[in-house]
Amino acid sequence: MQWEAVIGLEIHVQLATSSKMFSGAATAYGAAPNTQACDIDLGLPGVLPVINRRAVEMAVLLGLAIGAQIAPVSIFARKNYFYPDLPKGYQISQYEAPIVRHGTLEIAGADGEPKTIRILRAHLEEDAGKSVHDAFPGNSAIDLNRAGTPLLEVVTEPDMASAAEAVAYMRGLHTLVRYLGICDGNMQEGSFRCDANVSVRRAGDPKLGTRAEIKNLNSFRYVERAIEFEIERQIDVIESGGKVVQETRLYDSVKDETRSMRGKEDAHDYRYFPDPDLLPLTVTQADIDAARERLPELPAAKKSRFLSQYGLNEQDALALVQEREVAAYFEQVESIAPGDPKQIANWITGEVFGALNRAGLAFAQLPVPSAGLAALLGRIRDKTISGSMAKQVFEEMWETGDTPDAIIERRGFKQLTDDGAIAALVDEVIAASPEQVEQYRSGKDKVFGYFVGQVMKKSKGQANPQQLNEILKAKLGR
Ligand code: ADP
Ligand code: MG
Repeated sequence: MQWEAVIGLEIHVQLATSSKMFSGAATAYGAAPNTQACDIDLGLPGVLPVINRRAVEMAVLLGLAIGAQIAPVSIFARKNYFYPDLPKGYQISQYEAPIVRHGTLEIAGADGEPKTIRILRAHLEEDAGKSVHDAFPGNSAIDLNRAGTPLLEVVTEPDMASAAEAVAYMRGLHTLVRYLGICDGNMQEGSFRCDANVSVRRAGDPKLGTRAEIKNLNSFRYVERAIEFEIERQIDVIESGGKVVQETRLYDSVKDETRSMRGKEDAHDYRYFPDPDLLPLTVTQADIDAARERLPELPAAKKSRFLSQYGLNEQDALALVQEREVAAYFEQVESIAPGDPKQIANWITGEVFGALNRAGLAFAQLPVPSAGLAALLGRIRDKTISGSMAKQVFEEMWETGDTPDAIIERRGFKQLTDDGAIAALVDEVIAASPEQVEQYRSGKDKVFGYFVGQVMKKSKGQANPQQLNEILKAKLGR
């Protein structure tokens, strides 16, 4: 029996405003507990919320970036429930009339072909506080710093058919919100978190299966693992004669499984109603036009431009546009050292990303400026140094901040690029290795590496690798 998975995501994007959704309290992460919750966040009697204009502008920016409708009038509602980290007893959210409706985001689907994911809505709301269970033995504590932090909840149609597609969508949205500057994207700090709705159905069945909702996934890896586990679990349930029940589940990353948290029977009745303290939110055409002016070049457009302008392949272009700073760095290097964009892409996605990874640094902390990388690549192109020497120079640029030329000079790096001199070394090696020559000529390709190694050794690592290869091939005659 063939099964089909159906997935819809609800992603909470924490907006990068400096103050809260409805109050002037600060939103900075990591402050001492309960130092950033004011009387409005606590819902003390007599206070009145005021809508944060920046948060509204950010919602409009996202709406425009996904080609959505921006509602001229949207409404804040109270979502009522009782929980210790929710002092007001309700969360202010948008329910029937969200600010953003009907957008799309394109991802690479299963077959690598572009696939359009429909975004049903994006609504503004405030975050709740946080329960802390490990600070005081035997007691739970409440930190209300997060209470009232602005969130944009972005909800898709059930358009994804695999964990991989769900992750591709999530990555796409993650890139987009950082391009727009509306979210710092820090998933460890909870700035970008996902609820995944998962169901399965028999292939071709037009009816959707019953779904489970997996709450609060805060890494791409967890989203992928949780969905994969959940799809298998639901198939097993149905194939062994059972029925999937609609419920909320949690993903346990240690056991790598999802577990039931609450069923439909304990689902809340939120008694939504328009918040009487807040006027309907109006967004004018002038507001929308002003936001459109501020839209940067978006990731999808930048990727197409990188493909056509620089002749990069899909994979390189995608890797470079993932972060706006990386794309800008690439273009700076290219403008200083034009002519070989592929080489620059290789260095950034290989050497630079690798070194950042090893050092545990973000791209913004890269110690090698674009002019430095451009100068280094110039020395490979003019054959002063080989690619492998360049890697050593790069490491030293990273450590010392010196220019490539200073390092090349100091280390005495130079390349042997004289064909005649390289050929002489090749001749010596061939003459000294009759056995290996025999092996190579009888078809043992691997022996080629032996010759390269020997000549390199004789040249003290200075033979230009490309020339060496060509001369060796010619002289060995295969
Ligand atoms: P709720 O508000 O109770 O979470 P919604 O109907 O708004 O429910 O849907 C929430 C998310 O669940 C949406 O992303 C939607 O695409 C997804 N979804 C709805 N039905 C299914 C289903 N049968 N299988 C998978 N996802 C679903
Ligand atoms: Mg939901």
